[in-house]
Amino acid sequence: MHIGFIGLGNMGAPMARNLLKAGYALSVFDLNDAAVRELVQAGALPAESPGAIARGNADVIITMLPAAPHVRSVYLGDDGLIQNVRPDVLLIDSSTIDPHSARDVAAVAAQHGNPMLDAPVSGGTGGAAAGTLTFMVGGSTADFARARPILEAMGKNIIHCGDSGNGQVAKVANNMLLGISMIGVAEAMALGVALGMDAKTLAGVINTSSGRCWSSDTYNPFPGVLENVPASRGYSGGFGTDLMLKDLGLATEAAKQARQPVILGALAQQLYQAFSAQGHGGLDFSAIINQYRKDSTH
Ligand code: NAD
Repeated sequence: MHIGFIGLGNMGAPMARNLLKAGYALSVFDLNDAAVRELVQAGALPAESPGAIARGNADVIITMLPAAPHVRSVYLGDDGLIQNVRPDVLLIDSSTIDPHSARDVAAVAAQHGNPMLDAPVSGGTGGAAAGTLTFMVGGSTADFARARPILEAMGKNIIHCGDSGNGQVAKVANNMLLGISMIGVAEAMALGVALGMDAKTLAGVINTSSGRCWSSDTYNPFPGVLENVPASRGYSGGFGTDLMLKDLGLATEAAKQARQPVILGALAQQLYQAFSAQGHGGLDFSAIINQYRKDSTH
């Protein structure tokens, strides 16, 4: 089985490496030559363009690109995938994009006889390196079954979410909830501490009570409550505020198109936007607690 892989960034490069480790033959393309060279050293074949990947002998092509405009250009542009690919080659886009764009591109692929899955991931760069990503997959049951063994080489939880676009729906809904819940935990922790409580004790109460959630018990935003989380190392690493902002933008845009209110999602988006505009877009998103803490240095 030969796989084509396009987009060798923070996520794509370790995912592609895991495919090589699993024994797949791999052709790779990225606009960044250095990223291609690194994968070639690991055993991949270089390609000159998305079209060249498509004209090669890949049975499956995976893309891991920043956002919808990049996905449209790689799939639909000149020397792009769709123009050049053989019918029946399976296309898998793992980028996080809006569900409407995912469905549009999949519809064009289908017209050309190519099955396509949207398969965004969660788990971050650590999960990509460890091969423990969660894949949220939209597309037909048969195409999902075909993709599954390949996705298992890069991830641990492979979930079929329904028809085309539904992988992106699951991703935006989950990340919107994460963005909101982090702000909720930040607000509660900052209030408790301002009223005189010890942060660790308060987190202990929340985590054995009804306020408990992932943002409180696994990724607490208050420094010193948990070891090995961004809050305890100056909010470095982790999931950047600007990446959270991107996902909340996708959620609010998708909501607008569906005429579905996302009141807290929109408010969360504005809070992260204000924090980013103050110059903190590179900090982990849990640093949003500094908007509440009187002693904050950010
Ligand atoms: P990145 O910016 O590190 O990598 C993107 C890569 O795509 C770059 O190497 C870039 O050169 C390449 N690229 C851009 N346009 C291209 C084109 N036209 N042709 C070929 N290559 C092109 O981004 P990332 O962190 O790897 O994220 C990729 C996707 O995964 C995004 O949609 C992101 O939202 C999503 N995601 C990221 C994380 C994370 O923690 N970084 C977690 C989950 C999901």
